Amino acid sequence: MFIVLLGPPGAGKGTQAQRLAESTGLLHISTGDMFRENVAAGTELGKLAKTYMDRGDLVPDEVTIKMLLERISRPEASAGAMFDGFPRNVVQAEALDAALAGKDAKIDHALLISVPDEELITRLGGRWICRKCGRLFHERNDPPKQAGVCDECGGELYQREDDRPEVVRNRLEKQKPPAALIDHFRTSGVLTEIDGLQSLDAVTAALEAAIR
Ligand code: AMP
Repeated sequence: MFIVLLGPPGAGKGTQAQRLAESTGLLHISTGDMFRENVAAGTELGKLAKTYMDRGDLVPDEVTIKMLLERISRPEASAGAMFDGFPRNVVQAEALDAALAGKDAKIDHALLISVPDEELITRLGGRWICRKCGRLFHERNDPPKQAGVCDECGGELYQREDDRPEVVRNRLEKQKPPAALIDHFRTSGVLTEIDGLQSLDAVTAALEAAIR
């Protein structure tokens, strides 16, 4: 099964993807995480991606698509995957469709988590990530037991550079799923829209119901 999670930055894609990966056993593929890993490792790809990420802009399609296609060509992705943060536009969606068609597969579900802008701005400002295991927390919605410390592994929590308010506004403007992308999945009959204002557990339950 191949699933795409769609939604604006801050809709909860990352958190929900981690939960769904656990409950379904599907491989979680996040292009944002892949870029952040490359930045942390100081690779050429990471250096290039960082110049876009720090401003809240999208990394060019050519670079992003190449990285994603390499990832899904690996054996561990042959049975299925859940894409979080990819595709961000129709060009990326078509590249993914073509790659899956080559494996006799297709996107089975596109799950769109919708959240209004004002709420996204509050959410992105309160987000914390574990430096060691990548677990996501939120000051208000999903706080760690002890401030600054990961519940899972005891790692240090940090805030993303691109979660700063000035950058957040640009990310929302540039990175909301475009209408054409949503239509792409609606036309192929795989789209389910989910109200992202519900509690984390209710959103997880709705996502699980949609793919069952
Ligand atoms: P995310 O963790 O999904 O919010 O991604 C963090 C940053 O990585 C984004 O702000 C973009 O700069 C970049 N990025 C992630 N996924 C993509 C994508 N599919 N296309 C272009 N840029 C991306």
